[in-house]
Amino acid sequence: MSRREVDLFVIGAGSGGVRAARIAAQHGARVMMAEEYRVGGTCVIRGCVPKKLFVHAGRFAHDLEDMAGFGWRVGEAEFDWLTLVANKDKEIARLEGIYRRNAENAGVEVVASRAVVAGPNTVRILSTGEEIDARYILLATGARPALGPAIVGCELAITSNEAFNLTHFPDRILVQGAGYIAVEFAGLFRALGSDVTLVYRADKVLRGFDGEIRDHLEAEMTRAGIHLTPGRTLTSIEVINGGKRVTLSDGSVLEVDDVMLALGRIPNTGHLGLDGVGVKLDDVGAVVVDEKGCTNVPSIYAVGDVTNRINLTPVAIREGHAFADTVFGNKPWTVDHSLVATAVFSEPEIGTVGLSEEAARALGRPIDIYSTSFRPLKATLSGRETRTFMKLVVDKESDVVLGCHIMGDAASEMIQLAGVALGLKAKKADFDRTVAVHPTSAEELVTLRTPTRSI
Ligand code: NDP
Repeated sequence: MSRREVDLFVIGAGSGGVRAARIAAQHGARVMMAEEYRVGGTCVIRGCVPKKLFVHAGRFAHDLEDMAGFGWRVGEAEFDWLTLVANKDKEIARLEGIYRRNAENAGVEVVASRAVVAGPNTVRILSTGEEIDARYILLATGARPALGPAIVGCELAITSNEAFNLTHFPDRILVQGAGYIAVEFAGLFRALGSDVTLVYRADKVLRGFDGEIRDHLEAEMTRAGIHLTPGRTLTSIEVINGGKRVTLSDGSVLEVDDVMLALGRIPNTGHLGLDGVGVKLDDVGAVVVDEKGCTNVPSIYAVGDVTNRINLTPVAIREGHAFADTVFGNKPWTVDHSLVATAVFSEPEIGTVGLSEEAARALGRPIDIYSTSFRPLKATLSGRETRTFMKLVVDKESDVVLGCHIMGDAASEMIQLAGVALGLKAKKADFDRTVAVHPTSAEELVTLRTPTRSI
């Protein structure tokens, strides 16, 4: 029997792969896509989407506390973790179905198997051994949680993969790490009622973010009762009666129910047959690509976290779309990786786009910093001790806003639009001449009159 031929074989049906497959098929390409786990990838199955659902769950606890100040008397509320997990599973299954149907309706053949590269134009489907000839191969295999340096008993820890499906609610949890995932899970578990300890090697959470945002988030986390433990790492985990005993690098010992590691992510490039065809990887094992997503093998492209550029779902989706338009749609374009707005769903949440004050200072140009910290209106009646923080980093000579950083309710919603403004190279004067929407928190962004400091 002659071998089947396709124009595109996509390995990995996550955000980037599904978009690339669907758009390529819409451009008339014959497309196959292999997925060894579930269609939708990390974001849909065990990342952004379930995480945001869990964040919402935690926020109801805040609402319940806040209601009394507004005159509401509510009885004892009870939270049931297993109901949340089960309902989340139903929603994820629904979304997975939509992702799969969208791909199939576009004409993509979805194969439920691991697939590996067997040649520059050949993919092997491992479940059947079938080899497919492909004009192009797209690597969209994503990344997996890193487990960090050897910790004695690290197999006793969970990662974000397992945290979404714990069969019990962790009354006491230790989270190691201080990046997106660590601060998000620390915040949501705390809101749901866990006693949370956050252990991290740096002096502050969220390395690379604006320094004041980092400080404000630490202040909020401390206020929320999260035990911040900077400058330390885990050395061992052991099982004790009904929980885990954890030893830290300073010799201190804690007892918790669960230990979660959130130490970054590793590109999924192992055992994919990439050595055999000579696809170049960088020193963390990510696929090296040019601005079009093409590897050093002209028929093999890669998008998303497997390339370890900006590891965010919307970036992977764009990279997949650009690849399909460029290679199959005769509409070449590339993704602009500058000025990508992002949100961290910590408590409170953070929205950020552009340069931090530290990065702007490093340019060596004069900059003005405008910032404000205030108690949001809702907190006045609720009595909640929380501050909203906002900051604009402005190039003094051109008046262009280089960075916008927000921490507080709806920061993620605000930053999406700030991203539009910064993308248009908005000046501080453009912010100033925009009439405020009142009463909102966002209006503070257009009423920052005097620099907090000039550098
Ligand atoms: P991050 O890269 O954000 O953070 C990794 C954390 O692990 C850092 O605090 C880092 O410390 C720490 N770390 C790394 N190696 C070690 C080590 N050997 N010992 C101790 N600590 C270590 O990774 P995450 O896992 O949090 O998230 C992965 C990626 O997923 C993010 O970068 C982001 O791109 C994406 N993501 C996006 C979300 C969103 O958009 N809201 C949500 C979740 C994830 P240090 O600071 O000292 O380097």
